[in-house]
Amino acid sequence: MGPHPVKIRAAVVDRMLCHARVEWPLECCGLLAGTDGMITAAFPATNALASPCEFFVDAAELIGTLRRIRESDLKHLGIYHSHPDTENVPSARDAAMAFYPSCTYFIVSPHSIRPLRAFEFVNGKAAELDIEVV
Ligand SMILES: [Zn+2]
Repeated sequence: MGPHPVKIRAAVVDRMLCHARVEWPLECCGLLAGTDGMITAAFPATNALASPCEFFVDAAELIGTLRRIRESDLKHLGIYHSHPDTENVPSARDAAMAFYPSCTYFIVSPHSIRPLRAFEFVNGKAAELDIEVV
């Protein structure tokens, strides 16, 4: 477990789990935002790859979503996606695509015993974080 828990509102957890179920069997994805280290809002995005094993948010949607986050006076704090039928540990591609070192990466596995897990990436290596639902 990581050195510090990531704090997130229960409603945001519910929204990610719901999004993963709706998009199943494809991967869902989205951005997470909040203030003062607390994630308070989810911004669901379109998986441009419409794939069961990878995701990508196209540049125009990503830029538009980051603008909406700023206009809501929030900070971009995280990214989430689902692993529809596999365990929620980061794939090699997830590590390679972790471009935001200050972000927390949530992975939702709707059928797992632990449907939500959180990671940060340091030098391309994943470290799991405890999740504090508030
Ligand atoms: Zn993944």
